[in-house]
Amino acid sequence: TISMAVIDKRGQIAVGTSTNGATFKIPGRVGDGPIAGSSAYADNEVGACGATGDGDIMMRFLPCYQVVESMRLGMDPKLAAKDAISRIARKFPNFVGAVVAINRNGVHAGACHGWTFQYSVRSSEMDDVKVFTVQP
Ligand code: ASP
Repeated sequence: TISMAVIDKRGQIAVGTSTNGATFKIPGRVGDGPIAGSSAYADNEVGACGATGDGDIMMRFLPCYQVVESMRLGMDPKLAAKDAISRIARKFPNFVGAVVAINRNGVHAGACHGWTFQYSVRSSEMDDVKVFTVQP
């Protein structure tokens, strides 16, 4: 899966996700990629979230919607991401997945379960992409 969140200089926020559906390549499968709030969600007033992992499990929790709404209520991106992942892990302890959250100020964080997750960040103040590693 590739999830990408972008904040432009006017503060407009967009997010998108593509998936190869590698884990569950069932003919006709929809997956979590096109489900709004599942593997991507953004709101200009708050921030954005992208997700990867066991989409058939994760889509039941709309984790990206959860992350953005938690940030709206005041959680920082790290706590919001951890909370969304732990909500899934409580019901499905064997699931593998991750979310990455960014708020409208550019503060970002990831959380994962069942694997080590990496995401990358680039802003206009940076010379290059920086890769962040998140441990479960
Ligand atoms: N979430 C994707 C899916 O279930 C897979 C992935 O993230 O790699 O289709």
